[in-house]
Amino acid sequence: MEVLYYSTRSEAKPIKASEAILKGLSDDGGLFVPDHVPALDKSLKELAGMTYQEVAYEVMKLFLTDFTEEELKNCIAKAYDSKFDTDVIAPIALAENAYFLELFHGPTIAFKDMALSILPHLLITSARKNQIKNEIVILTATSGDTGKAALAGFANVEGTRIIVFYPKNGVSPIQEKQMVTQKGANTLVVGIHGNFDDAQTGVKKIFSDKELAKEMDQKGFQFSSANSINVGRLVPQICYYVYSYAKLLSEGRIAEGEKINVVVPTGNFGNILAAFYAKNMGLPIGKLICASNENKVLFDFFRTGVYDRNREFMLTSSPSMDILISSNLERLIYRIAGNDAKKNQELMAALSGQGKYVITDEMKAELSDFYGNYASEQETAAIIKKIYEDCGYVIDTHTAVAAAVYEKYQAETKDATKTVIASTASPFKFTRSVMNAIDGKYDAMTDFELVDELSRLANVKVPNAIEEIRTAPVVHDKQCDVDEMKKVVCEFLGI
Ligand SMILES: *Cc1c(COP(=O)(O)O)cnc(C)c1O
Repeated sequence: MEVLYYSTRSEAKPIKASEAILKGLSDDGGLFVPDHVPALDKSLKELAGMTYQEVAYEVMKLFLTDFTEEELKNCIAKAYDSKFDTDVIAPIALAENAYFLELFHGPTIAFKDMALSILPHLLITSARKNQIKNEIVILTATSGDTGKAALAGFANVEGTRIIVFYPKNGVSPIQEKQMVTQKGANTLVVGIHGNFDDAQTGVKKIFSDKELAKEMDQKGFQFSSANSINVGRLVPQICYYVYSYAKLLSEGRIAEGEKINVVVPTGNFGNILAAFYAKNMGLPIGKLICASNENKVLFDFFRTGVYDRNREFMLTSSPSMDILISSNLERLIYRIAGNDAKKNQELMAALSGQGKYVITDEMKAELSDFYGNYASEQETAAIIKKIYEDCGYVIDTHTAVAAAVYEKYQAETKDATKTVIASTASPFKFTRSVMNAIDGKYDAMTDFELVDELSRLANVKVPNAIEEIRTAPVVHDKQCDVDEMKKVVCEFLGI
């Protein structure tokens, strides 16, 4: 049955999956949501015998219904290949009574790779399906991590170019090195003389420049965005929850139909929303445990029904979760409002006006699948040390937030359901925080000494993504002022 996509903010006619992927965000500012969540049409037993790529096809075909089998399989094959350092793509490790689903074996050793490695292929396929002949130009402002993951995803993908602007003095040395060493003739990385907000404002301005859009169209280009709210990033994230269940079943660790809980370290709410969709497809998931760091807006929301961003922004050791507005939550709000775009729009208007909204008791009752809690910086460090000492397994700071919240959940509920923890980054990505958590004595070492020490402690080979930073030559050295960004784009495109 065909799945069409509605905006969360209007009753406008729904569009096809490929159109939603091309548009990213709806014109009314809303997010695209499927008109229904399709049920899995393969049994859990059948799925248990499949590879990651095969499971991904079984899930994605149900959501992206206007893609042909050949198109979808082609996208999947190009995304989940030797860019990942393991054939199984998302391995599972058992440690401290939980299954850690390792989503960090892609090119940038963090979970954004799971979606950003396939998005470019979904985008160009969508463009071709909609008779768009133009080359797709991805324009991104980054404060660090997403820029590199997008670059790695789009590099050398025919029919696309990618331009990343970052604040020249506003990212870590490692993040900068990761970006400026990016290979691929279709990539451009530029450090701007300004902060992240300047970069983002500049990019938005270029996006909404009608003159430029016209000129680009004449020369065979058009902009698109790799934004985290794109349906083309959400749907690929559902696959690994189904895969993890299938894998646990095939290894005899759970019985067919047995419920599992899922814990997700959450920022923008994209990853846990994918788990929610997996549950709605019929995957036997019990609780969806939403783990926050000290920016605990979501914990407060699940407890009180009040979403309130008016609070101090905390910088933590899990920076990818330092977020006060979780954009993907809007998709859940729309749904618990009974797919009521008007109600959702009112709440979102309150969020942008007063920084706050309150859901009704009726809506709150729809949230019973979720459990929210948070971990302090101290609790995060303590669980890294504990799991290392108990099991020799080393987790990163984001995954540690989830592990700490899972401990609280167990203490509170005595729920002994088998549990999958979404492990969103390699410990090698946040080496200093991780090693400091294990022992204060590491503080004196350099970053690369720490990398080697971590490799020894965890008995894990240093990932390629890190080795490359040590040795790869710098290929991007362009810098510009904020008001030169448009010029830089035009030069790169030769217009
Ligand atoms: C982006 C990110 C998260 C948060 O995921 P959301 O989908 O935004 O909730 C958690 N951990 C890491 C390492 C990330 O990069």
